[in-house]
Amino acid sequence: MSALKLPDFQLQAGTMAFLEKHPKSLFINNEWVAAQSGKSFETRNPATGDVLAEVALASEADVDAAVSAARAAFNGAWGQTLAGDRAALLFKLADLIDEHADVLAELETLDNGKPIRVARRGDLPYVTKHLRYQAGWADKIEGSTVPVTFPNQFVYTRREPMGVVGAIIPWNFPLLMAIWKLGPALTAGNTLILKPAEQTPLTALYLADLVKIAGFPAGVVNVLPGPGQPTGAAMAKHPDINKIAFTGSTEVGRKIMEAAANSNLKRVSLELGGKSPNVIFADADVSSAIRGAQWAVFSTAGQECVAGTRLFVERAAYDQVVEGLKTQVEKMVVNHGFAEKVHVGPVITEQQMTRVVGYIEDGKKAGAEVITGGNRVENLGGGYFVQPTVFAYQDDGISIVTDEIFGPVAAVTAFDDWDELITRANDTMYGLAAGVWTRDIGKAHRYAHAVQAGTVWINGYGMIDPAAPFGGYKQSGFGREMGKEAIDLYTQVKTVWVNTQ
Ligand code: NAP
Ligand code: MG
Repeated sequence: MSALKLPDFQLQAGTMAFLEKHPKSLFINNEWVAAQSGKSFETRNPATGDVLAEVALASEADVDAAVSAARAAFNGAWGQTLAGDRAALLFKLADLIDEHADVLAELETLDNGKPIRVARRGDLPYVTKHLRYQAGWADKIEGSTVPVTFPNQFVYTRREPMGVVGAIIPWNFPLLMAIWKLGPALTAGNTLILKPAEQTPLTALYLADLVKIAGFPAGVVNVLPGPGQPTGAAMAKHPDINKIAFTGSTEVGRKIMEAAANSNLKRVSLELGGKSPNVIFADADVSSAIRGAQWAVFSTAGQECVAGTRLFVERAAYDQVVEGLKTQVEKMVVNHGFAEKVHVGPVITEQQMTRVVGYIEDGKKAGAEVITGGNRVENLGGGYFVQPTVFAYQDDGISIVTDEIFGPVAAVTAFDDWDELITRANDTMYGLAAGVWTRDIGKAHRYAHAVQAGTVWINGYGMIDPAAPFGGYKQSGFGREMGKEAIDLYTQVKTVWVNTQ
């Protein structure tokens, strides 16, 4: 397979064995089964454009089968499992993921394109940290007693699972996104149907084997690879799925809500896109702020929901920041994820590359100044590489400033005063994240309170932790993942009245 002829990297035997021998089919009721339609799709290596695997495509009938299995597990053994036993299984799964981390990291780099160093040191450790953190909540999901106004009534609440949860996830952190959903969903006692993104199904398939080895009862976790249509859409409208946990674009989030509204009013939680403002005040530690701003945009080749793509710089520091950013960004190496030196890998697909380059061209036409980059990278074989690009702009209405590009493109502008800054920073339909760099602690907090975003970083950017709630304001979605709030997202409250008379 030419996708595996990487010039300077020897893949693990386990990675090769998975690619060559594992059935890339549907995981339903702890079995690998063929797609009922017999259809399949290809997943590619974005660094080469080569096909990595042919994967079974789940259609409506397969979704039905998975829902039946998940429902039976919820009504059966899993529904009776004690909290501590659920936690033990999840800890076991975390241990297995750690044991298989090297192979999982390689599969992530092959399927998604991200640097192997990032997959190994970033994605994989965070996957198991998150899983263990969530599993720790299993036996701490408490209700309360309620002092009502009626006499002789003992009232208490229980937090109960929702039932069958559907998870629909994107391709930028494939395994991590799967675990963000699986962790709290199973901790809270739900069963799960996971649809990985069609661009990156491999680690979800590998995970399914580990789920089985860990000893989860059949039907608790089902994995259905396939595209948004028909697989994701069939889940969103399914009358026996109780909740959809979605991470992806605002456009698709809207469709999921519509499908939920028009079917069984299933619960929906949405983690959507962003166009996050990152602000550098002139009193900041400017060199740290420049490095922070650089990684805020260019990690994961700009394909992060929290990417700090709108950089606001106080005028007194503007020239210094633009110059510093140009110098730093020009040192970044664009290469395939297994290369010895690489900072920016490929974008996910040819279509995404065309879209990103289209935005860059729009930016140029709209009069924004290219500070650095501005083109695709042509000399790296068949991969989908784009130069890290920084634009300077004045007009807040142009598409590189208003739209989520989801590629390595930053837009930097100067501001003069507080009111202007806050108005412009909040002038977006999104509200996922924001950053601010200043040595003035009062100003930092004032900004953190004024900006409409679910997460704000002061003198840093991009940290996400299993314990820290994460989610959007405005059209960046609703619901908070991570922290105890993630458990709230996967449970419902029941109130029980007891007449003690
Ligand atoms: P996307 O196009 O919205 O896809 C997300 C998932 O939804 C994929 O699994 C996709 O399937 C599926 N899907 C597509 N159409 C559907 C439909 N009609 N019904 C049900 N499911 C459907 O997003 P993406 O391009 O993969 O990911 C990029 C987006 O995700 C960005 O907007 C980014 O900001 C956002 N994101 C947000 C967060 C966060 O935590 N807030 C994190 C990461 C990414 P296929 O793609 O397989 O067809
Ligand atoms: Mg792929």
